[in-house]
Amino acid sequence: MDPLSLASISLFDIARFRDTYTARSSIASRYIEARRDTLLTHFVDDIDSLKSLMDDTGAVISGSLALRLFLPEDAVQWPINDMDLYVPNSSCADVVTHFIRQGYQLSNQSPSSAPYAYGDMTQIETVITMINSGKKVDIIISKSSSSILPIFFFHSTIVMNYFNSNTFFAAYPELTKRKRGLINGIRFASGSLSDRSLSCLLKYTARGFKFARDLNSWETEDAADSHQCGEHFDCPQRLRTSVDRGCFTVKIGSSEDQRHEATRPVAWCLGGSPCNIDTVELPSLVFAVT
Ligand SMILES: [Zn+2]
Repeated sequence: MDPLSLASISLFDIARFRDTYTARSSIASRYIEARRDTLLTHFVDDIDSLKSLMDDTGAVISGSLALRLFLPEDAVQWPINDMDLYVPNSSCADVVTHFIRQGYQLSNQSPSSAPYAYGDMTQIETVITMINSGKKVDIIISKSSSSILPIFFFHSTIVMNYFNSNTFFAAYPELTKRKRGLINGIRFASGSLSDRSLSCLLKYTARGFKFARDLNSWETEDAADSHQCGEHFDCPQRLRTSVDRGCFTVKIGSSEDQRHEATRPVAWCLGGSPCNIDTVELPSLVFAVT
């Protein structure tokens, strides 16, 4: 299989292809690494120093850029707008200094409590926007020492992905591969979705994603989707962890995987409406495992 045909399949399937056919593994590995680096060069000239920054601080890239890296290269038509870098709270100054050295300037800083920003239930302390000749990086400072905790508060499962210098992670690889997203029950904690969450869902709906609050919404479309409620990894009533078998974690590049304290495991349950009346309804929750 040549790199061109790899462009038509998701990272999830490329990783399986790599692991199944040892002789082809270097082709798939090089493709994954090159695609990741191409995305990074949209934002910085010195991608090695950005990777070192992520190694040192435990910062990770999430949002639409991580989703783009997961989906087949050929399937993503939307433009590359910005990079969302999630940063543990103690590394704020280091990360801002890094981007100033890379030619970026401070554009805006919003407290997470601002009505236009991310709302209360996000574990986000603040968002610092930096710009450089049309390039935009949002530095999202976690309220805690975990860089990845805010990711599990996102509006839906399609963006519960991240990558750093040596790893790509997806919490719901099977659903995301099929452009399906479950809405996070924790976003309904105040009774309704925020305007920001709604506008994100509408944006991704326009990009071909389908959203629901439980798996049954799709079962009428595909009988193979029927599931053991509360047991299936994609069921919103299942308690999950970021190291369980439902997650997809793939190594990128040749450097050793150095799990940073900032990416220690997270446990979560999407919660929300149960899939059927027999299901024991679990609350929506997210917490870092110490
Ligand atoms: Zn279920």
